[in-house]
Amino acid sequence: KVKVALVGLPNVGKSTLFNAIAQKSIADAKNFPFCTIEPNVTPIPIPDDNLLHKLALVAKSKKALPAHIFLVDVAGLVKGASRGEGLGNQFLATVRECNLIIHVVRSHDDADVIHVDGKVDPVADAEVVNLELLLADLSHVQRRLEKSTCIGDEKEVLLKVEKGLENGLPARSIGLSSSEEFSIKSLGLLTLKPVVYIFNVDEVDYIYDRDTSMATAEAYAKQLQYCDLEKDSFAVVSAKFENELSTKSDEEKRVYLDSIGAVDGLNLNEQLSYRRLPLLVKDVLDLELVYTGPGVSPERSQTTKTHIIPSKSISVLDLAGKLHGDIQKGVMNAEVIRATDLIQYETYGRQRLCAPK
Ligand code: GDP
Repeated sequence: KVKVALVGLPNVGKSTLFNAIAQKSIADAKNFPFCTIEPNVTPIPIPDDNLLHKLALVAKSKKALPAHIFLVDVAGLVKGASRGEGLGNQFLATVRECNLIIHVVRSHDDADVIHVDGKVDPVADAEVVNLELLLADLSHVQRRLEKSTCIGDEKEVLLKVEKGLENGLPARSIGLSSSEEFSIKSLGLLTLKPVVYIFNVDEVDYIYDRDTSMATAEAYAKQLQYCDLEKDSFAVVSAKFENELSTKSDEEKRVYLDSIGAVDGLNLNEQLSYRRLPLLVKDVLDLELVYTGPGVSPERSQTTKTHIIPSKSISVLDLAGKLHGDIQKGVMNAEVIRATDLIQYETYGRQRLCAPK
């Protein structure tokens, strides 16, 4: 499961953004009954230009199940969260289980919205949260190092991470090799996860002057000490505006955006929308979509599915296992075909493709 944590200080717009995305997700979830909706988790299907649907037709499947990413709304983190302040430990444990962090930073100065520290300062705010993530990792690493079971490679790497954290470097900026990262994977270090900073900007800037809001966001991101812009990325959003748009149909959106003279019409809400977010996550985590489907014989599973897997570690055996454990045991070789090629065919058989359309 690919999970994405929405983190940030309290009152910065996390839930507003989450709701904007969840509105659509709840509507979609009716089509995907296997998706149970938890209040703070929303599944988002990964868009693929309708490829899954077309493949299901070729495979003559009864069902098509898209892959999802899961967006988790973590309650606000406060100063001292790493020491358990404001249920911090519990919230940080939720983040530990996620693959990527979306860090929402308040950058609008709507006086009606209370700020926890009384003033809007995006850089200082982001650093409060970043520092808590770093301190939480430091104590996590130190606790692990005290255990007698922490030996060999793990110990060596953790000592290196500890030193980095003590010098204010997030674990992802220490330059660990992939095998070093693997040896400490089970710890779920927070600062090893890539971060996408989302600056929640004033809606007027968002609607009419996107370039300036992006430039401002970039300037903020560059000032962040605990950020690694080689690995991290940033975007802008007006959570409030996206939330307003989220309940409208495409046609209603068009009319509304026209009526307010929005600069780039319907594309406006594509920056961090329901459709764009999973693609952003897929890029940042370097994931690949793979489709599995039944042969045409009726006794086989009737479902064509999309899987989302790390692009570096796709093996035929792994894929066979996604279909069925038994198939994985018996697999000898496989013919791999591009989904975009396969949809050119009428259907496919056990040995070969049948009748191009
Ligand atoms: P959370 O605590 O981070 O989940 O913050 P919420 O999403 O609950 O938002 C806190 C308050 O800020 C609410 O009153 C929202 O209506 C308001 N808010 C959220 N996003 C925006 C925004 O983009 N612009 C403005 N003006 N207000 C916002």
